[in-house]
Amino acid sequence: MAKMFIGGELVDSVTKETYEIRNPANGAVVDAIPKGNEKDVQQAIQAAESAFKEWADVTPEDRGSALMNACELIKKNTSEIAQLLTQEQGKTLFEAGLEIHHLVHGLEFYAGLASKVRGSHVPLPQKGAYGMVIRQPIGVCGGIVPWNFPLTLMGTKLGPALAAGNSIIIKPASTTPLATARVIELIAQATFGEGKAQKTLPKGTVNVVTGPGSSVGEEILRNPRIRRIAFTGSTPVGRHVMEVAGREIKRVTLELGGSDPMIVMEDANIDLAIKMADVGRYFNCGQMCLGVKRLFLQESIADKFLGGLVEILKKKTVGNGMSKETRMGPIHLESQRKEVEEQVEDAKSRGAKTLFGGERPKGGDLDKGFYYSPTLMSNVPEDARMTTEEVFGPALPVYTFKSLDEALEKANSSEFGLGSSIWTRNLLSANKAIDKLQAGNVWVNSLHYGYDELPFGGVKSSGLGREHGPEALDYYLEPKGVVIVNV
Ligand code: NDP
Repeated sequence: MAKMFIGGELVDSVTKETYEIRNPANGAVVDAIPKGNEKDVQQAIQAAESAFKEWADVTPEDRGSALMNACELIKKNTSEIAQLLTQEQGKTLFEAGLEIHHLVHGLEFYAGLASKVRGSHVPLPQKGAYGMVIRQPIGVCGGIVPWNFPLTLMGTKLGPALAAGNSIIIKPASTTPLATARVIELIAQATFGEGKAQKTLPKGTVNVVTGPGSSVGEEILRNPRIRRIAFTGSTPVGRHVMEVAGREIKRVTLELGGSDPMIVMEDANIDLAIKMADVGRYFNCGQMCLGVKRLFLQESIADKFLGGLVEILKKKTVGNGMSKETRMGPIHLESQRKEVEEQVEDAKSRGAKTLFGGERPKGGDLDKGFYYSPTLMSNVPEDARMTTEEVFGPALPVYTFKSLDEALEKANSSEFGLGSSIWTRNLLSANKAIDKLQAGNVWVNSLHYGYDELPFGGVKSSGLGREHGPEALDYYLEPKGVVIVNV
């Protein structure tokens, strides 16, 4: 049975209760995991507080080498971790491998930045006095992670937290704790320093508490000894996180839902745009915060574009992610499949046309999992749920437009503002879209991909603050103003 990881030890929950993790591809039990509660979080806080005292004093260069060493340990164990991830989440082994690669790349990025944090020297009006701004770690951080990318979204919190000198408690989604627990166990074994001075991370620097959001998650939000919350998940839970954490004036970042528009102009590289619309919508079975969730096509190219996309979808093999032939795994949860189905049915009932899919694939092992065909819908009205809500699964609504202004207006009519893209070879159109799209990120002729090097986050209901890039480090450091007077 898998365990939680607290204070450098693999542990059961205080109550010894466990629950099963099931494979979305066939319902088989993958493993059992401790069902933690508030008391387990409190133990983790105790461990993380005592580790923080040591870790904050480790030199930034050594913190960087520890993170680099952690990456080596993860790389050596990629195959085992990928299999765990595929079995608990449902994604294909190929997608699991890419996720681990992205996790490692992100941690390496912050390993490099650990020793590059700078403050400043500030001239003051008083004679013989000057100011400084120094930047210090905050303390114990809490990272709350969803089930779609359990590892990369854990890494976007753990990387900058550790580089800045904080300790961290991770709460994975209830249904995807296994790969996370294994990776944290490996990170805890990371070493820094040479020869006899070589050390491992202080016990309690990294912790995982598994269990429900209603107990484990709530305690992370409420407990005043956790000073910083990084949350990725749905917009409704994000609102709740902000309210509860706000009572203790905690530092909060929220990475929430999105409904990214992809706008394709008639002068774009259409063949490339078709391929990227496929990846952007159907990768990870469409369960991505960033992703092509509303496709806007200029009228003159719509038929060619949709014909090309349908040809790709016809070849997409849906099945168990462990099989090499599979190109798209199941939806992670039964309830999530139902939600996508209802959104598609709502669009159909309002006159939308199904260009591909729109149903459960049937037969053999497919009947045992939460499968749904890759789905493409046109004539989707503006008040349909697929237009107004986030579609968190493999279904794509398509809209046509005459002018860029019309496309931008429709694209911006969403409550969300995470990613967006414009596909054009016209510099003026590209610049206008960059300027006008209401989103935290705009890609020009590029897949909606969260580069580690660039700040990533949302506007409007898509979130608060940024992950990725050097910008993310700012959210794990407190600036302290210092005045020095020469007397
Ligand atoms: P949820 O908001 O339901 O859950 C996210 C995490 O929050 C889980 O670990 C969950 O635990 C926990 N949680 C639930 N209730 C509470 C609570 N009361 N207090 C504290 N923690 C709680 O989201 P999903 O897991 O369904 O993830 C999908 C959503 O995440 C989508 O909307 C997607 O767009 C968004 N997302 C955003 C990204 C971004 O960077 N902007 C990236 C990826 C996804 P438990 O599992 O135990 O309920």
